[in-house]
Amino acid sequence: MKQANDLKQLLRQIDHKSYPAYKDTRGSYRFPGYILNIDHVQGDPFASPSKVSIAVSGQEAGFPADTYDQPHKRIALQDHILRLFSRALGQYSFKARGSGKSGLIGVSRCGQEILERTACQMDPKNGSLLVRMEVGFPADGRRINSGELIKILFDFLPECIPQSLYYKKLDARKVQKVKELSEDQYYIRQQIKARKLTAFVANGTILPRESGVSARPMKNAVPFRSPSSLEITLDLPNHGPLTGMGIPQGITLIVGGGYHGKSTLLKALELGVYDHIAGDGREYVATDDTAVKIRAEDGRSIKKADISMFINNLPNDRDTRAFSTEDASGSTSQAANVIEAMEADTRLFLIDEDTCATNFMVRDDLMQRVVHRDQEPITPFIERVRQIYQEQGISSVIVAGSSGSYFHVADTILQMNQYKPMDITELAKQEAKAFPLTCEDAPKAAPPTTSRCPRQSSSFRKNDRIKMKTMGKDAFSINKETVDLRYVEQLVDSEQTTALAYLLKYMELHCFDGRTPLKDIIPRLSAQLHEKGLASINESSYLSSNLAMPRPQEIYACIDRYRGLML
Ligand code: ADP
Ligand code: MG
Repeated sequence: MKQANDLKQLLRQIDHKSYPAYKDTRGSYRFPGYILNIDHVQGDPFASPSKVSIAVSGQEAGFPADTYDQPHKRIALQDHILRLFSRALGQYSFKARGSGKSGLIGVSRCGQEILERTACQMDPKNGSLLVRMEVGFPADGRRINSGELIKILFDFLPECIPQSLYYKKLDARKVQKVKELSEDQYYIRQQIKARKLTAFVANGTILPRESGVSARPMKNAVPFRSPSSLEITLDLPNHGPLTGMGIPQGITLIVGGGYHGKSTLLKALELGVYDHIAGDGREYVATDDTAVKIRAEDGRSIKKADISMFINNLPNDRDTRAFSTEDASGSTSQAANVIEAMEADTRLFLIDEDTCATNFMVRDDLMQRVVHRDQEPITPFIERVRQIYQEQGISSVIVAGSSGSYFHVADTILQMNQYKPMDITELAKQEAKAFPLTCEDAPKAAPPTTSRCPRQSSSFRKNDRIKMKTMGKDAFSINKETVDLRYVEQLVDSEQTTALAYLLKYMELHCFDGRTPLKDIIPRLSAQLHEKGLASINESSYLSSNLAMPRPQEIYACIDRYRGLML
Protein backbone atom coordinates (compact mmCIF):
# COMPACT_ATOMS: atom_id res chain seq x y z
CA MET A 1 0.00 0.00 0.00
CA LYS A 2 1.09 3.55 -0.73
CA GLN A 3 2.26 5.59 2.22
CA ALA A 4 1.23 9.03 3.42
CA ASN A 5 4.52 10.39 2.12
CA ASP A 6 3.80 9.16 -1.40
CA LEU A 7 0.66 11.24 -1.31
CA LYS A 8 2.48 14.29 -0.06
CA GLN A 9 5.05 13.98 -2.82
CA LEU A 10 2.41 13.54 -5.47
CA LEU A 11 0.54 16.58 -4.19
CA ARG A 12 3.68 18.70 -4.31
CA GLN A 13 4.33 17.59 -7.87
CA ILE A 14 0.91 18.59 -9.14
CA ASP A 15 0.81 21.99 -7.44
CA HIS A 16 -0.28 24.77 -9.85
CA LYS A 17 -1.14 22.23 -12.54
CA SER A 18 -4.57 22.23 -14.10
CA TYR A 19 -7.28 20.81 -11.85
CA PRO A 20 -7.78 17.33 -13.39
CA ALA A 21 -4.27 16.37 -12.27
CA TYR A 22 -5.86 15.88 -8.83
CA LYS A 23 -7.43 12.71 -10.29
CA ASP A 24 -4.10 10.92 -9.82
CA THR A 25 -4.50 11.10 -6.06
CA ARG A 26 -7.27 8.51 -6.11
CA GLY A 27 -6.26 5.55 -3.96
CA SER A 28 -5.47 4.44 -0.41
CA TYR A 29 -2.64 5.71 1.75
CA ARG A 30 -1.35 4.43 5.05
CA PHE A 31 -1.12 7.10 7.71
CA PRO A 32 0.02 6.38 11.26
CA GLY A 33 -3.01 4.73 12.88
CA TYR A 34 -5.41 4.77 9.92
CA ILE A 35 -5.80 4.52 6.17
CA LEU A 36 -6.88 7.51 4.12
CA ASN A 37 -8.92 6.63 1.04
CA ILE A 38 -9.45 9.14 -1.72
CA ASP A 39 -12.49 7.46 -3.24
CA HIS A 40 -13.52 9.99 -5.85
CA VAL A 41 -11.97 13.22 -7.08
CA GLN A 42 -14.13 16.09 -8.27
CA GLY A 43 -13.69 17.28 -11.85
CA ASP A 44 -13.36 20.97 -11.11
CA PRO A 45 -13.34 23.25 -8.06
CA PHE A 46 -17.02 24.07 -8.45
CA ALA A 47 -18.28 20.48 -8.85
CA SER A 48 -19.61 18.50 -5.92
CA PRO A 49 -16.70 17.89 -3.54
CA SER A 50 -14.36 14.91 -3.56
CA LYS A 51 -15.15 11.83 -1.50
CA VAL A 52 -12.69 10.84 1.18
CA SER A 53 -12.93 8.11 3.78
CA ILE A 54 -10.93 7.09 6.83
CA ALA A 55 -10.51 3.46 7.74
CA VAL A 56 -9.44 2.55 11.23
CA SER A 57 -8.83 -1.09 12.08
CA GLY A 58 -10.67 -2.64 15.00
CA GLN A 59 -7.44 -2.87 16.91
CA GLU A 60 -6.59 0.77 16.37
CA ALA A 61 -10.13 1.98 17.10
CA GLY A 62 -10.18 -0.20 20.21
CA PHE A 63 -13.85 -0.10 21.15
CA PRO A 64 -14.90 -2.85 23.59
CA ALA A 65 -16.96 -5.49 21.81
CA ASP A 66 -19.93 -5.03 24.14
CA THR A 67 -20.38 -1.47 22.83
CA TYR A 68 -21.26 -2.71 19.35
CA ASP A 69 -22.16 -6.39 19.54
CA GLN A 70 -25.83 -5.82 18.71
CA PRO A 71 -27.25 -3.66 15.93
CA HIS A 72 -28.96 -1.13 18.22
CA LYS A 73 -25.76 -0.62 20.22
CA ARG A 74 -23.61 -0.38 17.12
CA ILE A 75 -25.90 2.22 15.53
CA ALA A 76 -25.90 4.32 18.72
CA LEU A 77 -22.11 4.09 18.95
CA GLN A 78 -21.64 5.03 15.29
CA ASP A 79 -23.92 7.99 15.88
CA HIS A 80 -21.89 9.09 18.91
CA ILE A 81 -18.59 8.78 17.07
CA LEU A 82 -19.92 10.66 14.07
CA ARG A 83 -21.11 13.54 16.25
CA LEU A 84 -17.66 13.80 17.84
CA PHE A 85 -15.92 13.64 14.48
CA SER A 86 -18.26 16.17 12.91
CA ARG A 87 -17.80 18.57 15.81
CA ALA A 88 -14.01 18.22 15.74
CA LEU A 89 -13.67 18.60 12.00
CA GLY A 90 -16.45 21.13 11.47
CA GLN A 91 -14.30 23.95 12.80
CA TYR A 92 -11.80 23.34 9.99
CA SER A 93 -14.22 23.72 7.12
CA PHE A 94 -13.05 26.45 4.75
CA LYS A 95 -9.93 27.02 6.87
CA ALA A 96 -8.11 25.94 3.74
CA ARG A 97 -8.97 28.43 1.03
CA GLY A 98 -9.40 28.92 -2.68
CA SER A 99 -11.97 29.13 -5.44
CA GLY A 100 -15.32 27.34 -5.61
CA LYS A 101 -15.70 24.65 -2.97
CA SER A 102 -12.00 24.75 -2.06
CA GLY A 103 -11.49 23.83 1.58
CA LEU A 104 -15.01 22.62 2.25
CA ILE A 105 -15.06 19.76 4.72
CA GLY A 106 -18.45 18.09 4.80
CA VAL A 107 -19.29 15.61 7.54
CA SER A 108 -22.88 14.56 8.29
CA ARG A 109 -24.70 16.66 10.82
CA CYS A 110 -26.87 14.52 13.03
CA GLY A 111 -30.17 15.77 14.42
CA GLN A 112 -31.98 14.57 17.54
CA GLU A 113 -32.69 11.11 16.15
CA ILE A 114 -30.21 8.26 16.09
CA LEU A 115 -29.98 6.90 12.56
CA GLU A 116 -27.78 4.46 10.75
CA ARG A 117 -25.68 6.47 8.31
CA THR A 118 -23.10 5.73 5.66
CA ALA A 119 -20.98 8.56 7.14
CA CYS A 120 -19.86 6.29 9.96
CA GLN A 121 -19.95 2.55 9.87
CA MET A 122 -18.52 0.04 12.24
CA ASP A 123 -17.96 -3.55 11.22
CA PRO A 124 -19.83 -5.67 13.77
CA LYS A 125 -17.37 -8.52 13.28
CA ASN A 126 -14.18 -6.73 14.29
CA GLY A 127 -15.01 -3.19 15.36
CA SER A 128 -13.19 -1.52 12.49
CA LEU A 129 -14.47 1.92 11.51
CA LEU A 130 -15.05 3.60 8.19
CA VAL A 131 -15.85 7.30 8.26
CA ARG A 132 -16.87 9.04 5.06
CA MET A 133 -16.78 12.73 4.24
CA GLU A 134 -16.54 15.26 1.46
CA VAL A 135 -13.58 17.53 0.86
CA GLY A 136 -13.40 20.38 -1.63
CA PHE A 137 -9.95 19.97 -3.14
CA PRO A 138 -8.46 23.47 -3.15
CA ALA A 139 -7.65 25.51 -6.23
CA ASP A 140 -6.71 29.03 -7.24
CA GLY A 141 -9.05 29.67 -10.13
CA ARG A 142 -8.79 26.32 -11.92
CA ARG A 143 -5.22 25.56 -10.91
CA ILE A 144 -4.42 23.12 -8.16
CA ASN A 145 -3.41 24.57 -4.82
CA SER A 146 -2.09 21.44 -3.21
CA GLY A 147 -0.50 23.26 -0.29
CA GLU A 148 -4.01 23.84 1.05
CA LEU A 149 -5.01 20.19 0.57
CA ILE A 150 -1.85 19.15 2.41
CA LYS A 151 -3.09 21.26 5.33
CA ILE A 152 -6.38 19.37 5.36
CA LEU A 153 -5.01 15.87 4.94
CA PHE A 154 -1.80 16.24 6.95
CA ASP A 155 -2.74 18.72 9.69
CA PHE A 156 -6.50 18.92 10.24
CA LEU A 157 -7.43 15.27 9.82
CA PRO A 158 -4.59 13.81 11.92
CA GLU A 159 -5.64 16.28 14.61
CA CYS A 160 -9.31 15.22 14.60
CA ILE A 161 -9.12 11.50 13.95
CA PRO A 162 -7.64 10.27 17.24
CA GLN A 163 -9.88 12.44 19.44
CA SER A 164 -13.04 11.09 17.84
CA LEU A 165 -12.25 7.65 16.43
CA TYR A 166 -9.95 6.08 19.02
CA TYR A 167 -11.63 4.69 22.07
CA LYS A 168 -8.64 5.32 24.30
CA LYS A 169 -8.85 9.07 23.59
CA LEU A 170 -12.60 9.31 24.26
CA ASP A 171 -14.47 9.86 27.48
CA ALA A 172 -15.18 6.23 28.39
CA ARG A 173 -18.07 7.18 30.65
CA LYS A 174 -19.85 8.87 27.77
CA VAL A 175 -19.36 5.83 25.54
CA GLN A 176 -20.75 3.69 28.34
CA LYS A 177 -23.77 6.00 28.69
CA VAL A 178 -24.47 5.75 24.96
CA LYS A 179 -24.42 1.97 25.21
CA GLU A 180 -26.64 1.93 28.29
CA LEU A 181 -29.22 4.28 26.81
CA SER A 182 -29.41 2.20 23.66
CA GLU A 183 -29.92 -0.97 25.71
CA ASP A 184 -32.69 0.73 27.67
CA GLN A 185 -34.38 2.03 24.53
CA TYR A 186 -34.21 -1.41 22.99
CA TYR A 187 -35.74 -2.89 26.13
CA ILE A 188 -38.65 -0.42 26.04
CA ARG A 189 -39.35 -1.36 22.41
CA GLN A 190 -39.43 -5.04 23.33
CA GLN A 191 -41.76 -4.32 26.23
CA ILE A 192 -44.14 -2.39 23.98
CA LYS A 193 -44.58 -5.56 21.95
CA ALA A 194 -44.70 -7.93 24.91
CA ARG A 195 -47.30 -5.86 26.77
CA LYS A 196 -49.44 -5.20 23.70
CA LEU A 197 -48.92 -1.45 23.78
CA THR A 198 -48.68 0.98 20.91
CA ALA A 199 -46.42 3.43 22.70
CA PHE A 200 -44.70 4.33 25.94
CA VAL A 201 -44.06 7.86 27.19
CA ALA A 202 -42.00 8.11 30.37
CA ASN A 203 -42.90 10.48 33.16
CA GLY A 204 -40.59 13.47 33.06
CA THR A 205 -40.37 13.47 29.26
CA ILE A 206 -40.05 16.88 27.65
CA LEU A 207 -42.38 16.75 24.67
CA PRO A 208 -42.36 20.25 23.17
CA ARG A 209 -39.51 21.58 21.07
CA GLU A 210 -37.75 24.89 21.36
CA SER A 211 -39.44 26.35 18.27
CA GLY A 212 -40.91 25.47 14.92
CA VAL A 213 -37.42 25.47 13.45
CA SER A 214 -35.49 23.89 16.30
CA ALA A 215 -35.86 20.29 17.38
CA ARG A 216 -34.08 20.91 20.68
CA PRO A 217 -36.11 20.55 23.87
CA MET A 218 -38.16 23.52 25.05
CA LYS A 219 -36.78 25.13 28.17
CA ASN A 220 -39.11 25.33 31.18
CA ALA A 221 -41.65 23.03 29.58
CA VAL A 222 -44.19 21.16 31.69
CA PRO A 223 -42.78 17.64 32.05
CA PHE A 224 -44.99 14.76 30.97
CA ARG A 225 -46.90 12.92 33.65
CA SER A 226 -49.02 9.85 32.97
CA PRO A 227 -52.55 9.53 34.31
CA SER A 228 -52.39 6.89 37.04
CA SER A 229 -54.77 4.53 35.24
CA LEU A 230 -52.34 4.14 32.34
CA GLU A 231 -49.18 4.15 34.40
CA ILE A 232 -46.83 1.22 34.03
CA THR A 233 -43.38 0.69 35.43
CA LEU A 234 -40.69 -0.88 33.31
CA ASP A 235 -37.51 -2.24 34.81
CA LEU A 236 -34.88 -0.99 32.39
CA PRO A 237 -31.57 -2.89 32.41
CA ASN A 238 -29.49 0.21 33.18
CA HIS A 239 -31.78 3.00 34.31
CA GLY A 240 -33.74 0.68 36.57
CA PRO A 241 -37.46 1.22 37.21
CA LEU A 242 -39.06 3.81 34.95
CA THR A 243 -42.70 4.80 35.17
CA GLY A 244 -44.72 6.27 32.37
CA MET A 245 -47.81 6.02 30.23
CA GLY A 246 -48.41 2.84 28.28
CA ILE A 247 -50.90 3.44 25.49
CA PRO A 248 -52.75 0.18 24.95
CA GLN A 249 -53.48 -1.25 21.53
CA GLY A 250 -56.90 -0.37 20.17
CA ILE A 251 -58.36 3.04 19.49
CA THR A 252 -57.07 5.92 21.54
CA LEU A 253 -58.50 9.38 21.40
CA ILE A 254 -56.68 12.52 22.51
CA VAL A 255 -59.04 15.40 23.18
CA GLY A 256 -58.75 18.72 24.99
CA GLY A 257 -58.97 22.43 24.47
CA GLY A 258 -56.98 24.24 21.84
CA TYR A 259 -53.36 24.86 22.78
CA HIS A 260 -53.32 22.27 25.56
CA GLY A 261 -50.63 20.14 23.96
CA LYS A 262 -52.48 17.51 21.90
CA SER A 263 -50.50 17.88 18.70
CA THR A 264 -47.26 18.07 20.64
CA LEU A 265 -47.95 14.67 22.20
CA LEU A 266 -48.88 13.18 18.83
CA LYS A 267 -45.74 14.60 17.21
CA ALA A 268 -43.62 12.92 19.87
CA LEU A 269 -45.40 9.64 19.14
CA GLU A 270 -44.72 10.05 15.41
CA LEU A 271 -41.01 10.48 16.04
CA GLY A 272 -41.02 7.80 18.74
CA VAL A 273 -40.38 5.31 15.94
CA TYR A 274 -36.75 6.50 16.25
CA ASP A 275 -34.46 6.54 19.26
CA HIS A 276 -33.38 9.96 20.54
CA ILE A 277 -30.05 11.10 21.90
CA ALA A 278 -29.39 11.78 25.57
CA GLY A 279 -30.53 15.28 26.54
CA ASP A 280 -33.28 15.37 23.93
CA GLY A 281 -36.08 15.04 26.49
CA ARG A 282 -37.70 12.20 24.51
CA GLU A 283 -35.10 9.53 25.27
CA TYR A 284 -37.75 7.31 26.83
CA VAL A 285 -40.55 7.79 24.34
CA ALA A 286 -41.03 4.81 22.09
CA THR A 287 -43.79 4.11 19.61
CA ASP A 288 -44.51 0.91 17.71
CA ASP A 289 -41.84 1.28 15.06
CA THR A 290 -44.22 0.60 12.19
CA ALA A 291 -46.45 3.58 13.11
CA VAL A 292 -47.50 5.81 10.24
CA LYS A 293 -48.79 9.37 10.44
CA ILE A 294 -51.90 9.69 8.33
CA ARG A 295 -52.92 13.05 6.95
CA ALA A 296 -54.63 14.73 4.06
CA GLU A 297 -52.32 15.57 1.22
CA ASP A 298 -54.25 17.25 -1.55
CA GLY A 299 -52.45 17.42 -4.85
CA ARG A 300 -50.50 14.19 -4.47
CA SER A 301 -50.64 11.56 -7.15
CA ILE A 302 -52.25 8.18 -6.54
CA LYS A 303 -51.47 5.07 -8.57
CA LYS A 304 -54.00 2.28 -8.57
CA ALA A 305 -54.86 2.35 -4.89
CA ASP A 306 -57.86 0.34 -3.74
CA ILE A 307 -59.60 3.02 -1.70
CA SER A 308 -63.02 1.36 -1.97
CA MET A 309 -63.12 0.83 1.80
CA PHE A 310 -63.65 4.56 2.09
CA ILE A 311 -64.74 5.87 -1.26
CA ASN A 312 -67.26 4.42 -3.69
CA ASN A 313 -69.64 5.49 -6.42
CA LEU A 314 -67.83 8.60 -7.48
CA PRO A 315 -69.99 10.79 -9.76
CA ASN A 316 -67.97 10.04 -12.89
CA ASP A 317 -68.08 6.29 -12.19
CA ARG A 318 -64.37 6.20 -11.49
CA ASP A 319 -63.17 2.83 -10.28
CA THR A 320 -62.12 3.19 -6.67
CA ARG A 321 -60.71 -0.36 -6.45
CA ALA A 322 -57.79 0.83 -8.54
CA PHE A 323 -57.95 4.55 -8.15
CA SER A 324 -55.48 6.80 -9.92
CA THR A 325 -55.20 10.55 -10.07
CA GLU A 326 -52.50 13.14 -10.62
CA ASP A 327 -54.18 15.56 -8.25
CA ALA A 328 -55.95 13.99 -5.29
CA SER A 329 -58.50 15.77 -3.12
CA GLY A 330 -58.19 15.99 0.66
CA SER A 331 -60.35 12.93 1.31
CA THR A 332 -59.04 10.72 -1.51
CA SER A 333 -55.46 11.53 -0.56
CA GLN A 334 -56.12 10.63 3.04
CA ALA A 335 -57.90 7.42 2.03
CA ALA A 336 -54.92 6.48 -0.12
CA ASN A 337 -52.55 7.26 2.76
CA VAL A 338 -54.48 4.84 4.98
CA ILE A 339 -54.56 2.08 2.39
CA GLU A 340 -50.90 2.48 1.50
CA ALA A 341 -49.89 2.42 5.17
CA MET A 342 -51.76 -0.90 5.47
CA GLU A 343 -49.81 -2.20 2.51
CA ALA A 344 -46.65 -1.05 4.31
CA ASP A 345 -47.60 -3.32 7.23
CA THR A 346 -48.24 -0.64 9.78
CA ARG A 347 -49.71 -1.61 13.14
CA LEU A 348 -50.55 1.93 14.20
CA PHE A 349 -52.13 4.96 12.56
CA LEU A 350 -51.37 8.38 14.04
CA ILE A 351 -53.90 11.02 13.08
CA ASP A 352 -54.17 14.71 13.99
CA GLU A 353 -57.34 16.62 13.21
CA ASP A 354 -55.17 19.64 12.40
CA THR A 355 -54.05 17.93 9.19
CA CYS A 356 -57.13 15.90 8.26
CA ALA A 357 -59.83 16.21 5.66
CA THR A 358 -62.91 16.60 7.88
CA ASN A 359 -65.19 14.75 5.48
CA PHE A 360 -62.83 11.79 5.63
CA MET A 361 -62.97 11.64 9.44
CA VAL A 362 -66.65 12.15 10.33
CA ARG A 363 -70.08 13.00 9.03
CA ASP A 364 -72.49 14.49 11.52
CA ASP A 365 -76.09 13.39 12.06
CA LEU A 366 -77.72 16.36 10.47
CA MET A 367 -75.66 15.98 7.35
CA GLN A 368 -76.57 12.28 7.19
CA ARG A 369 -80.22 13.18 7.37
CA VAL A 370 -79.99 15.75 4.60
CA VAL A 371 -77.56 14.02 2.30
CA HIS A 372 -78.39 10.33 2.32
CA ARG A 373 -75.75 7.63 2.46
CA ASP A 374 -76.44 6.65 -1.16
CA GLN A 375 -75.50 10.10 -2.30
CA GLU A 376 -72.27 10.29 -0.36
CA PRO A 377 -69.26 8.49 -1.84
CA ILE A 378 -67.27 8.68 1.41
CA THR A 379 -67.49 6.17 4.24
CA PRO A 380 -65.75 8.16 6.96
CA PHE A 381 -62.85 6.74 8.93
CA ILE A 382 -64.96 6.66 12.09
CA GLU A 383 -67.10 3.90 10.55
CA ARG A 384 -64.07 1.81 9.65
CA VAL A 385 -61.65 2.36 12.49
CA ARG A 386 -63.00 -0.51 14.65
CA GLN A 387 -63.19 -2.94 11.79
CA ILE A 388 -59.60 -2.12 10.88
CA TYR A 389 -58.47 -2.80 14.42
CA GLN A 390 -60.51 -5.98 14.85
CA GLU A 391 -59.75 -7.54 11.50
CA GLN A 392 -56.30 -6.27 10.72
CA GLY A 393 -54.95 -5.50 14.20
CA ILE A 394 -54.08 -1.92 13.33
CA SER A 395 -54.50 0.48 16.24
CA SER A 396 -55.17 4.20 15.95
CA VAL A 397 -54.23 7.19 18.05
CA ILE A 398 -56.40 10.10 17.00
CA VAL A 399 -56.26 13.73 18.08
CA ALA A 400 -59.78 15.12 17.90
CA GLY A 401 -60.63 18.27 19.78
CA SER A 402 -63.75 19.27 17.92
CA SER A 403 -65.89 16.19 17.32
CA GLY A 404 -67.29 13.99 20.07
CA SER A 405 -68.33 11.23 17.68
CA TYR A 406 -65.12 9.30 18.21
CA PHE A 407 -66.00 8.85 21.91
CA HIS A 408 -68.25 6.02 20.74
CA VAL A 409 -65.55 4.04 19.03
CA ALA A 410 -62.57 4.76 21.31
CA ASP A 411 -61.16 2.30 23.84
CA THR A 412 -59.08 4.88 25.67
CA ILE A 413 -59.80 8.59 25.88
CA LEU A 414 -57.20 11.05 27.07
CA GLN A 415 -57.80 14.70 27.71
CA MET A 416 -54.83 17.02 27.52
CA ASN A 417 -55.26 19.67 30.15
CA GLN A 418 -52.51 22.25 30.59
CA TYR A 419 -50.11 19.79 28.94
CA LYS A 420 -51.08 17.01 31.34
CA PRO A 421 -53.03 14.00 30.09
CA MET A 422 -56.03 12.81 32.09
CA ASP A 423 -57.80 9.51 31.51
CA ILE A 424 -61.44 10.49 30.89
CA THR A 425 -62.55 7.23 29.28
CA GLU A 426 -65.31 6.49 31.82
CA LEU A 427 -66.69 9.99 31.91
CA ALA A 428 -66.67 10.47 28.14
CA LYS A 429 -68.33 7.08 27.52
CA GLN A 430 -71.02 7.96 30.05
CA GLU A 431 -71.72 11.29 28.38
CA ALA A 432 -71.66 9.72 24.94
CA LYS A 433 -74.62 7.50 25.88
CA ALA A 434 -76.82 10.59 25.82
CA PHE A 435 -75.77 11.24 22.23
CA PRO A 436 -76.12 7.92 20.48
CA LEU A 437 -74.65 7.71 17.03
CA THR A 438 -77.51 7.60 14.58
CA CYS A 439 -75.45 6.36 11.72
CA GLU A 440 -75.77 2.66 11.04
CA ASP A 441 -72.60 0.71 11.02
CA ALA A 442 -71.10 0.87 7.62
CA PRO A 443 -71.50 -2.40 5.74
CA LYS A 444 -68.35 -4.42 6.10
CA ALA A 445 -65.81 -3.89 3.43
CA ALA A 446 -63.31 -6.36 2.13
CA PRO A 447 -59.75 -5.40 3.00
CA PRO A 448 -58.07 -3.62 0.12
CA THR A 449 -56.46 -5.68 -2.59
CA THR A 450 -52.86 -4.75 -2.90
CA SER A 451 -50.84 -6.42 -5.53
CA ARG A 452 -49.23 -3.74 -7.58
CA CYS A 453 -46.37 -4.90 -9.78
CA PRO A 454 -44.44 -1.94 -11.19
CA ARG A 455 -42.75 -2.16 -14.57
CA GLN A 456 -39.47 -0.50 -15.31
CA SER A 457 -39.89 3.04 -16.55
CA SER A 458 -38.51 3.61 -20.04
CA SER A 459 -36.27 6.42 -18.82
CA PHE A 460 -34.26 3.84 -16.89
CA ARG A 461 -33.97 1.44 -19.77
CA LYS A 462 -31.62 3.52 -21.84
CA ASN A 463 -28.30 3.11 -20.16
CA ASP A 464 -27.89 6.86 -19.72
CA ARG A 465 -26.57 8.46 -16.60
CA ILE A 466 -29.37 8.80 -14.13
CA LYS A 467 -29.53 12.24 -12.61
CA MET A 468 -30.56 12.52 -8.98
CA LYS A 469 -30.81 15.56 -6.79
CA THR A 470 -32.02 15.92 -3.23
CA MET A 471 -33.88 19.08 -2.27
CA GLY A 472 -33.44 19.05 1.50
CA LYS A 473 -35.61 16.66 3.45
CA ASP A 474 -38.74 17.39 1.46
CA ALA A 475 -38.11 16.18 -2.06
CA PHE A 476 -35.75 14.65 -4.56
CA SER A 477 -35.70 14.48 -8.30
CA ILE A 478 -34.74 11.54 -10.42
CA ASN A 479 -34.62 11.73 -14.20
CA LYS A 480 -36.51 15.05 -14.10
CA GLU A 481 -39.33 13.51 -12.04
CA THR A 482 -39.75 15.25 -8.66
CA VAL A 483 -40.88 13.13 -5.74
CA ASP A 484 -42.56 15.37 -3.18
CA LEU A 485 -42.11 14.03 0.36
CA ARG A 486 -43.07 17.19 2.22
CA TYR A 487 -46.01 15.51 3.93
CA VAL A 488 -44.24 12.28 4.78
CA GLU A 489 -43.80 13.62 8.25
CA GLN A 490 -41.78 10.81 9.76
CA LEU A 491 -38.85 11.45 7.47
CA VAL A 492 -36.48 13.32 9.74
CA ASP A 493 -33.28 13.84 7.79
CA SER A 494 -32.33 14.88 4.27
CA GLU A 495 -29.93 11.92 4.24
CA GLN A 496 -32.95 9.61 4.44
CA THR A 497 -34.41 11.45 1.46
CA THR A 498 -31.17 10.97 -0.45
CA ALA A 499 -31.19 7.29 0.45
CA LEU A 500 -34.77 7.03 -0.87
CA ALA A 501 -33.60 8.47 -4.19
CA TYR A 502 -30.87 5.80 -4.34
CA LEU A 503 -33.37 3.11 -3.39
CA LEU A 504 -35.83 4.19 -6.05
CA LYS A 505 -33.10 4.10 -8.67
CA TYR A 506 -32.06 0.67 -7.45
CA MET A 507 -35.62 -0.64 -7.64
CA GLU A 508 -36.16 0.83 -11.10
CA LEU A 509 -33.01 -0.86 -12.35
CA HIS A 510 -33.25 -4.19 -10.55
CA CYS A 511 -36.69 -4.86 -9.06
CA PHE A 512 -39.43 -3.38 -11.24
CA ASP A 513 -40.04 -6.22 -13.69
CA GLY A 514 -43.83 -6.04 -14.07
CA ARG A 515 -44.29 -9.36 -12.23
CA THR A 516 -43.08 -8.85 -8.67
CA PRO A 517 -45.49 -7.07 -6.34
CA LEU A 518 -44.27 -4.18 -4.18
CA LYS A 519 -45.34 -6.30 -1.23
CA ASP A 520 -42.48 -8.64 -2.06
CA ILE A 521 -39.96 -6.12 -3.31
CA ILE A 522 -39.89 -3.78 -0.34
CA PRO A 523 -39.68 -6.29 2.53
CA ARG A 524 -36.91 -8.08 0.66
CA LEU A 525 -35.07 -4.83 0.07
CA SER A 526 -35.46 -3.80 3.72
CA ALA A 527 -34.09 -7.13 4.87
CA GLN A 528 -31.14 -6.67 2.54
CA LEU A 529 -30.54 -3.17 3.91
CA HIS A 530 -30.50 -4.46 7.45
CA GLU A 531 -28.19 -7.33 6.64
CA LYS A 532 -25.78 -5.71 4.25
CA GLY A 533 -26.33 -2.01 4.82
CA LEU A 534 -26.90 0.86 2.44
CA ALA A 535 -23.72 -0.13 0.61
CA SER A 536 -25.64 -3.01 -0.93
CA ILE A 537 -27.73 -0.69 -3.11
CA ASN A 538 -24.80 1.37 -4.28
CA GLU A 539 -24.31 1.51 -8.05
CA SER A 540 -21.34 3.83 -8.18
CA SER A 541 -17.63 3.20 -7.63
CA TYR A 542 -17.80 4.76 -4.18
CA LEU A 543 -20.51 4.93 -1.54
CA SER A 544 -22.07 8.31 -0.88
CA SER A 545 -21.14 9.80 2.48
CA ASN A 546 -24.59 11.16 3.12
CA LEU A 547 -27.16 8.39 3.23
CA ALA A 548 -29.26 7.58 6.28
CA MET A 549 -31.50 4.55 6.71
CA PRO A 550 -35.20 5.07 6.04
CA ARG A 551 -37.89 2.74 7.40
CA PRO A 552 -39.74 0.41 5.03
CA GLN A 553 -42.82 2.59 5.61
CA GLU A 554 -41.04 5.57 4.08
CA ILE A 555 -39.81 3.47 1.15
CA TYR A 556 -43.44 2.67 0.40
CA ALA A 557 -44.40 6.31 0.91
CA CYS A 558 -41.74 7.37 -1.57
CA ILE A 559 -42.89 4.95 -4.25
CA ASP A 560 -46.50 5.94 -3.67
CA ARG A 561 -45.60 9.56 -4.45
CA TYR A 562 -43.43 8.79 -7.46
CA ARG A 563 -45.32 10.02 -10.49
CA GLY A 564 -43.10 8.09 -12.86
CA LEU A 565 -44.17 4.71 -11.42
CA MET A 566 -45.30 2.41 -14.24
CA LEU A 567 -48.17 0.16 -13.30
P1 ADP B 1 -53.06 21.65 20.61
O1 ADP B 1 -52.75 20.67 19.52
O2 ADP B 1 -53.75 21.02 21.77
O3 ADP B 1 -53.81 22.83 20.12
P2 ADP B 1 -50.20 22.08 20.73
O4 ADP B 1 -49.70 20.72 20.96
O5 ADP B 1 -50.07 22.64 19.37
O6 ADP B 1 -51.70 22.22 21.22
O7 ADP B 1 -49.45 22.99 21.78
C1 ADP B 1 -49.68 24.38 21.88
C2 ADP B 1 -48.42 25.10 22.35
O8 ADP B 1 -48.05 24.67 23.65
C3 ADP B 1 -47.23 24.86 21.46
O9 ADP B 1 -46.58 26.08 21.21
C4 ADP B 1 -46.35 23.94 22.26
O10 ADP B 1 -44.98 24.13 21.97
C5 ADP B 1 -46.68 24.29 23.68
N1 ADP B 1 -46.52 23.13 24.56
C6 ADP B 1 -46.91 21.87 24.29
N2 ADP B 1 -46.63 21.03 25.31
C7 ADP B 1 -46.03 21.80 26.26
C8 ADP B 1 -45.49 21.51 27.54
N3 ADP B 1 -45.50 20.28 28.05
N4 ADP B 1 -44.93 22.53 28.23
C9 ADP B 1 -44.93 23.79 27.71
N5 ADP B 1 -45.42 24.10 26.51
C10 ADP B 1 -45.97 23.14 25.78
MG1 MG C 1 -53.24 20.74 17.47
